[in-house]
Order: sequence, then structure tokens, then C-alpha cells
Amino acid sequence: MSDIGEFVQQIKKNSRRKNQNPNKPAGCWSEDDLINGRKTKSLVVILRTSGCRWSRYSGCTMCGYFNDSLEKPVERGQLLAQMRYALSLYKNEQGIKIFTSGSFLDGEEIPYDLQVDLLKQCVQKVGVKKVSVESRPEFIKKEKIANLRDVIEPATLEVSIGLESADDKVLRGAVNKGFTFKDYEKAVDILKKEGVLVKTYVLIKPPFLSEGDAIADSVNTVKKIKELTDTVSFNPVSVHRNTLVEYLWKRGEYRPPWLWSIVEILKRSKEVAPDLEMKCDVTGGGTRRGAHNCRACDAQVLDAIRRFSLEQDTGVFNGLECQCKHTWKTSIDLESFTYNPLVVEYEKGW
Ligand code: SF4
Ligand SMILES: [Zn+2]
Repeated sequence: MSDIGEFVQQIKKNSRRKNQNPNKPAGCWSEDDLINGRKTKSLVVILRTSGCRWSRYSGCTMCGYFNDSLEKPVERGQLLAQMRYALSLYKNEQGIKIFTSGSFLDGEEIPYDLQVDLLKQCVQKVGVKKVSVESRPEFIKKEKIANLRDVIEPATLEVSIGLESADDKVLRGAVNKGFTFKDYEKAVDILKKEGVLVKTYVLIKPPFLSEGDAIADSVNTVKKIKELTDTVSFNPVSVHRNTLVEYLWKRGEYRPPWLWSIVEILKRSKEVAPDLEMKCDVTGGGTRRGAHNCRACDAQVLDAIRRFSLEQDTGVFNGLECQCKHTWKTSIDLESFTYNPLVVEYEKGW
């Protein structure tokens, strides 16, 4: 295991898991979405499983999903009960997104026959046009993908991969991702050949990158994947409990991204890849632990980012102004010398 992986594991040792009910999903809600370019709704289901295998062995520096995972493998009946509960909340959404805080396609997390059963349950709901699952590249295998695709027909299967960055140095030294850009490319090749949609998560501001470098890294990643993926979903880092990012943040050595940086990335990415569908869900936006500006303008900028995700039009950012934009620009200039975030006065009292 790498040094950074060992450190990530050490921090996790201090974590205490909450009492989890294995018969109920960790979360379930309906949200606005885009399917085939049209505004619609999707049902989001977060299944409680034993979580990500990579996280148990080493783990990504910003990921605290293990906090919501079960210590032991989940039983078949429990997973089916979770899905039954989630689908009881179904209200004619056209999409169903199944998340597991790990990889849906990992047979150790969800046995393969159960993956099939869970997807079948989803498409029994008339009106479902798309089912999305998430996976690390190593679990994306040709025969299984082809079968899962057939099981849900005529609905479309989408597989989301958390690439985070197309730069192997960032993947290794900042995220500790445990796979390379080449591994991602191989997995995408399988998905494309089987006619499955690809969504790619791009991380905004991994630790150890300055604000300016983080903007450049996200835009460069879009340049490299624009022909490979159907959708890009930007994930600005929020500070999860018991993670290396939290360790740095508590010492003033990490600041979550500015919302202005997200706006900049979305604008530049649309220039680079105008036809690519781009989304950005700012978890914890406007809080100390999430992407934020100065508080005064947070709600307005967050609303514009939400609208962009549904309308795909960077015009929603026109006219957004605030005094803190100057501080953001200054911090980009200064951080390239200090390599430490500029924590401004108004943030100290939060
Ligand atoms: S970010 Fe994904 S791959 Fe990394 S530890 Fe978390 S769940 Fe696993
Ligand atoms: Zn502001």
C-alpha cells in the first residue's frame, strides 16, 4: 500500500460507524434530471452495502462514504428489502439512479445474480427509461455488462465511473485512486462497444492542488474525455468526516473550492466541449465543508449552477457579481506561491 493509502487508513481507524438499519436504504429521494436532453425527474436510491472494496484496502483521500457503509456484507433479503422500500416511493420518474457508496458491479458488494434482480425490479415500473449504476473500472466486464443491458431493455443502462482526473499524477498523489487513466479508457471501451451510456465524475479541487491548478486540472480532464463519455458530472470536494481532506482542512491546509472556480470550470468546459452534457451537484454548497464563496452570494451562484445543469447554457452565469470575486482572483494568484489556501477573515468565524 502507498504511504498516502496508509495514512488514509490510519485516519479511518478513529471513525465510529453509526447504527445502520440494513433493511432500509441509506437515502432515497426524487430529483430534477436531464434524460435524452429533456428536463425530467429521477429517483435516487442509495443502497446500504459493505461499501467500496478499495476504501477498505486503501481509499481515496476525499471519500467518507465508508461512514455510511455496513461493517459486514449485506444479506440478499436485506438488499431486496431496501430496494422494495425505495421503489415504494417511486412516482413516475423516468430515471432511477442506484448508488451504493461503492461499486454496484462489484460481485463482492452485490452478488451478480442480485445485481440482475435489482435492475429487473427497477424496470418493472412502467415509465422508467434509464437506470444508472456506479462502478470502478476493474468491475466492468464485457459479458456481465451485455447481460445487464439486455435485462433492462427497452430502458437504457448508464454506468458512472469516478475518474476524478485524467492526470495520473493527480490520481496517484492527490486522490490515491488506485487506478490509472488507461484503466478508465479500457472500461469505457467495453461500455461503448456494448451500447451502454457512460457518465464520468470529475473531481473539483483534490487536496494538494492550488485553486488555479484545480481549475486547470478539471478543464484538462474534460479535454481528454470529451470523446469518451456521454456525460460529465463535476463533483466539487466537500469535506467528509474521517478523511485525509478533513485532516488537512482542520489544519487550515485545505479549503473546499470557491463557487467562482466551479463557474469558471463549467464555462471553460462548455467552450472545450459544447455538445457534451455536463452536470454539477454541489454537495454541502454554501457551508464551511462544501464549496462556498463569501456567504452573501452563495445562494445566487448555487442556483445558477443548478440551472446550468438542467439548461446546459452558460448564459445563466451572466451578470453574477460579488465583492468576493476579487478575493477569489487574488487567492488564485497567491496560492501559486504559498501552496496553502488563503483563508479569508470572514471564514474564520464560521
Ligand atoms: S471515491 Fe469511490 S473509489 Fe474512492 S474510496 Fe470512495 S467509493 Fe471507493
Ligand atoms: Zn460573494
